[in-house]
This record gives sequence, C-alpha cells and structure tokens, in this order.
Amino acid sequence: MTQTHFTLSNGKKIPSIGLGTWQSAPGEVAKAVEYALKNGYRHLDCAWAYGNEAEVGQGIKASGVPREEIFVTSKLFELHHHPEHVPLAIKDTLKNLGLEYLDLYLLHWNINLEVDAPAGVLPQNEHRVKGSSGKFKLDVALCDDVTPTWREMEKLVDQGLVKSIGISNFNINRTKKLLKEARIKPVADQVELSIQNPQPELVAWLKKNDILPQGYTPLGGTGKTNLRDNATVKKIADVHGVQTANILLSWLVARGINPLPKSVTPERIANNLKLVDLTKEQFDELDALSKSHPQQRVCDQSDSFEPTYDIYQENDPEFSDKVQFAKEQ
Ligand code: NAP
Repeated sequence: MTQTHFTLSNGKKIPSIGLGTWQSAPGEVAKAVEYALKNGYRHLDCAWAYGNEAEVGQGIKASGVPREEIFVTSKLFELHHHPEHVPLAIKDTLKNLGLEYLDLYLLHWNINLEVDAPAGVLPQNEHRVKGSSGKFKLDVALCDDVTPTWREMEKLVDQGLVKSIGISNFNINRTKKLLKEARIKPVADQVELSIQNPQPELVAWLKKNDILPQGYTPLGGTGKTNLRDNATVKKIADVHGVQTANILLSWLVARGINPLPKSVTPERIANNLKLVDLTKEQFDELDALSKSHPQQRVCDQSDSFEPTYDIYQENDPEFSDKVQFAKEQ
C-alpha cells in the first residue's frame, strides 16, 4: 500500500505529498490551492520569499476545507534571521495566509543577509546591504552559527504560533551543529531531492536521526524537464498506466522522502497526488538511474552573495555529506 502520511519525530502527521507554491504566478496560485484542496490535497508548501502567501491564503479560504485538516508549511527567509526580526516575520506570514498558526516553520536557508531596516520594521529586499563587489552581503557569523535564530523559532513553538520547526537546505555537517544546540529538534530538512539530485547520504543520515527529508523540485523544477521524461521512467510509467511524474514521486516516497510537487495546472495537480506501488526491480532501476550521472542541482545560492558561502560543502574534504556519512558507518 502506498504511504499516505509520514510521522514526524514529535508525533505529528504530515501528508505524503504537498503542493509546492514557488513560481506560481499571481492570479494562478489562489486557484491552484483552492483546486488542490477541493481535490484531496491536505498539505501546502509555502514561503514568505515566494511573495504569494496572501493569494495562497485566499485559496485556502475559498476551498472551504477546515483549517485543522490542512498541514501548512512556511519558511523564515534569509532577510529575517536576526533574532528581532523572527517575531515580525511569522506575524507577516500568518497575516498573509490568514491563519492563526503554522504546522511547520522552516529556516529557509543556512545563510543570512546583512540588512539595514529601521527598528521594528520587517526587512524587505530594499533593506539588503551591498558589498564592494556589488553583491549583497552575508552576515557570516549568523550563517556559521544559526543558534540565535533557532532560539527565536523555538519560542514560536512555545507560543503556539507554529506546531513544529525545521530546516531547509542544511547538509549533514550543519544539521549536526544545530542538533548540539537545539532545545526543540528540527522535525524536517527540506532539500532538493529528485532523480537528478538524489543525495543518498543526506537522506540516509536524516532518516537515522529521525528528521524527515522533504523533497523540493521533485519533478526537476519549473521550466525544465531534466530526467522527467527519461526512457526508464517512461517505461515504468507505462507499466502502471500513469504519467512519469507519478513514478518520480512514488520513488521518492518509497525512499522515505516527502515530495512537494508544484503545479498550477488542474489536471496535473490532481494527477500528482496518485502514488503507485513500485516493485523492488522498478525501485532499484530508478535508484540506479539516479546514480548514473553527476548530481544536478537547480537551486544553489552559494555564489550569489559576498562573500561566497559554500552552502552544501559538496566538495569539501572534511564536511561533504559523503565524508560526514562515511565517518559514522
Ligand atoms: P517541481 O515541482 O519539480 O516542478 C514544477 C514544474 O513541473 C512546473 O513547471 C509544473 O508546471 C511542472 N509539472 C507539475 N506536474 C507535472 C506533471 N504531472 N507533468 C509534467 N509537468 C508537471 O519544481 P519546484 O517548484 O522547483 O519545486 C517544488 C516546490 O518545492 C516549490 O514550489 C516550493 O514549494 C518548494 N521549493 C523549496 C525550496 C527551498 O529552498 N526550500 C526551493 C525550491 C522549491 P505547471 O505548474 O505549469 O503545471
């Protein structure tokens, strides 16, 4: 039987498939959310940075689905990690979504920008500070040690504003550091997971540590097809009489990953909720395909700021996930 929910380390349940909302254009996302909720979705993946939370909120309201039936995630953006900005950020997100609480609040990135906003004002893009290279400046101390931000996120759980907290784009090394400091443990790490970026070491380590791996860009991303229409995936899809997207999502769920496919197209939204039971041979064939090429990431901001910051540490001789994972075996 295909899995309908995962259970988080704090006992709360999260539906196996969530609707992604990044790059869902204005005028489209409210309808997409309403349609999804009316057609069986109970999990929405949102973020302040997507700039569309007010529309997502309209979609939730229009659906008529009771709040307590929906699992809603949002994310604290990289402009808002300074402790004084965390309460302002959650307030803005809840107001935009029209909700009293979130089910899950994620630290969106393990990087944090320098901002120059008046006291009491939630930083916006225009408050980013430029460095001498013309790129926006990072607050490196707060990137290297996210504890001050995490303490504020823990308070949001105490206050009942969020049910659970988690991280996003964290590798093994940086997650280990956070676990040493955390009073409330992250329940999930939302990272890029797809057939072209399978991250087997990170996934295995997260599962061993009872942190749910959530898979973003599970279909290869907007405007790209990558391996979505690969011949092996297509062959397995034909056997089950489904689309390739269903096979990619079923393979992720079978790996213990919580995928978050984005669509604003009604037929695809409805379709993406269907999971199939893969045979062991089919699972292994997809696994082999995922390892038959170099990892291909869609999202990496490492070179976007000043100084350059190695977010994933993929080639680091000490801190790459491969090295960190091997150390524990
Ligand atoms: P994705 O879900 O892998 O791919 C979305 C693209 O696939 C869209 O172009 C969509 O088109 C198309 N699509 C959807 N279903 C399809 C189907 N059945 N057949 C063919 N094409 C299909 O990409 P994503 O939006 O990058 O990632 C998903 C979600 O993960 C985001 O929306 C966001 O919520 C989250 N995310 C999080 C982070 C993070 O840093 N934490 C980063 C990136 C993404 P249409 O919409 O036109 O149907």
